[in-house]
Amino acid sequence: MDVIVIGGGIAGVATAYQLRAAGHRVCVVERHATVAQGATYGHSGIALPTPLDVWFGPTFLRDGRQSSGGVICKTGFGGQARAFVKRLGALHGAAAFEARYALLRPLIESAENLLADAEGRFQLEYEQREGLLYLVRGSDEWALTQPALELLRRFEVPHHAMSAAECSAVEPNLPADPPFAGGVRFTAGRVANCPLFVKQLKQVLDAQGGVQFQTGREVSAIRLESGRAAVELARRLPEEARSRDVEVISGDAVVVAAGAQTPRLLAAHGVKLPLYPLRLHTLNAPVAHEECVPQYTIVDAAKRIAITRMNHRLRISGGAVLLRANQVDEPLPEALTEDALALLGEASRDWAPGAARISAALAWEGMKLLSADGLPTVGSAGHPRLFVNAGHGPAGWALALGTGRLVAQQVSGELPDLPPETVEALRPDRG
Ligand SMILES: Cc1cc2nc3c(=O)[nH]c(=O)nc-3n(C[C@H](O)[C@H](O)[C@H](O)COP(=O)(O)OP(=O)(O)OC[C@H]3O[C@@H](n4cnc5c(N)ncnc54)[C@H](O)[C@@H]3O)c2cc1C
Repeated sequence: MDVIVIGGGIAGVATAYQLRAAGHRVCVVERHATVAQGATYGHSGIALPTPLDVWFGPTFLRDGRQSSGGVICKTGFGGQARAFVKRLGALHGAAAFEARYALLRPLIESAENLLADAEGRFQLEYEQREGLLYLVRGSDEWALTQPALELLRRFEVPHHAMSAAECSAVEPNLPADPPFAGGVRFTAGRVANCPLFVKQLKQVLDAQGGVQFQTGREVSAIRLESGRAAVELARRLPEEARSRDVEVISGDAVVVAAGAQTPRLLAAHGVKLPLYPLRLHTLNAPVAHEECVPQYTIVDAAKRIAITRMNHRLRISGGAVLLRANQVDEPLPEALTEDALALLGEASRDWAPGAARISAALAWEGMKLLSADGLPTVGSAGHPRLFVNAGHGPAGWALALGTGRLVAQQVSGELPDLPPETVEALRPDRG
């Protein structure tokens, strides 16, 4: 089949890779001049989500305060955003949290295998490192983290739950003051450069043939007929605007993997996804004192702020802002940006004092789509020729290889190799 993929982030390129592996011809349309320029660019490097990474469960937005657990919540009285927070609240209980994570687990395992396969097959080097340390400040947060630790045991994920003293023994740069409750260490936890991986995967596809990249082109609309699917491309030059002709690429199916733009593209076809946008921030700061830089990637587990070394810089990412739905396309008010960046600066001073020159940091912001039930939206979207692969929330990095494979199987009309209950839970129309 000829399949059009909209979006050249990790989700789109991983989907193209899996579609090609399934024998299809693919055209990826990306509005930027190259791939990995959206949310994929801002990643904090954590390749596979543990129960401590997911953005639902007992520690996530648990009390709905204005600024809770690292999320600045400015939903006002806006109906949609408040409904989203309320639905998240339904997953605070340990039982609901465990049930949702259990549905996600087969996808994580599939993605892990697919990443290892791609890496080995094409000898990919994308700055892979091992060593992740999740830290928890207060004893109340430590108590709320216990269901996540129970899941790590249940799914036999190798880890070490440690006291504060044990954490300091493995990461001597951690400050003893103020005191903290403890942490969880993953020696096999993967950190890597996601945009570099995406670019390498594109290079593999360029060399193999069968996947065409139309970069610098924006899809303005999707056309669906009973036997064909097509995308309309936005005009690039002012003189084109005078022409009535619209450039169209036709195929047998369209997969929308357009990150935060996915809901807008699908809305024209009456498809409403159960996703909500969150603004996220990063600070990329030059290393100040080499000897203060943590050896591990540090994650403030309750605030969901990650501190990762990337070459000569430290990337501090998190600082989520939850807005009213009608504000998502507007620039963030300056005061909110400052609040979000302050959270990141604070985390850096808390966990890696002296390591980075925050005053010289470059700030970046991006949007990620989150579902209230913590799962991405993957599969057929209201028409037999229209598919979606989006809404990976905090975990698009490697999950996208697994969701890409699922979409490729669905486009091919094959039975997915994930458990039916997981496939069902990922359905874009789950409401
Ligand atoms: C600060 C931050 C830190 C993160 N950290 C991690 C992490 O450590 N681990 C992890 O797994 N995940 C992390 N994530 C989440 C992860 O980055 C996302 O889940 C993932 O990148 C989403 O990929 P995507 O391809 O769906 O979206 P994107 O990367 O946003 O890609 C969508 C692409 O579609 C293109 N596009 C949109 N509309 C159109 C159109 N009409 N026509 C043509 N092209 C279009 C865009 O230009 C873009 O390139 C983080 C996210 C952020 C913001």
